[in-house]
Amino acid sequence: REEHLLRSEKLRVVGELASGMAHEIRNPLTTVKGFLQISKANGYNIENWYALIMDEINRMSDLTAEFLQFSKPHATQFRVHSLHECFQRVISLTESEATRLGHEILYECTQEQINVVMDQDKMVQLLLNIVKNAYEAMPENGVISLRLNRQNQYAVLEIADTGKGIPADQLEKIFHPFFTTKDSGTGLGLSICHKIVQDHQGTIEVESFIDQGTKFTITFPLASKDEEQDLIHAA
Ligand code: ADP
Ligand code: MG
Repeated sequence: REEHLLRSEKLRVVGELASGMAHEIRNPLTTVKGFLQISKANGYNIENWYALIMDEINRMSDLTAEFLQFSKPHATQFRVHSLHECFQRVISLTESEATRLGHEILYECTQEQINVVMDQDKMVQLLLNIVKNAYEAMPENGVISLRLNRQNQYAVLEIADTGKGIPADQLEKIFHPFFTTKDSGTGLGLSICHKIVQDHQGTIEVESFIDQGTKFTITFPLASKDEEQDLIHAA
């Protein structure tokens, strides 16, 4: 029964998102169509509009790609995994981009054995989305500090940047689908994060100071002893 409720709740959310998506995609489509019609009617060279059209198409492409992460039927694979490993994967995936932007990545892990029952791909996706936002919030030569530790029965993950910060009146909106302050943003990244955190019985909080930076704190219940056995057997 509870599962049934959960499912209808999910369908409602997907439905709401789908109508949002239709709206978000119609705007760039209308723009691209308009450009093409004007070009044809006036015998303009399409090259003049090329960059604009490309931007709009890329935006639609990003929107659909990110939307797929929500609705992907792919069965979630919940197993015991190490969060330390997830952080390492995220660092190796983003290191070259950080170097390119002149950012420094600091990583501190108080204990390597911090294990959580998770869908590992989703967990990496969650961290990547937040790290990507951190990069985008810092012009250059920023510092991103990742921390992993345990407190009582919880894993505590911190991702802090030295970026531009988030105005107080926007703090509650950042997790809403399609809320973005970026020219080419989709506004889906953090709503996907929120869903992933919920699916893992976790919590996510944000603290931000203008021109100083932003810190996301995420917690997850640690895997139990029985669940840890699962990890040992799987290894
Ligand atoms: P997008 O990155 O496509 O804009 P997100 O859902 O990832 O969408 O983020 C929503 C908004 O939250 C961003 O547009 C930005 O205004 C704000 N935001 C998120 N993370 C940060 C951060 N680390 N620093 C400053 N602003 C942020
Ligand atoms: Mg984002």
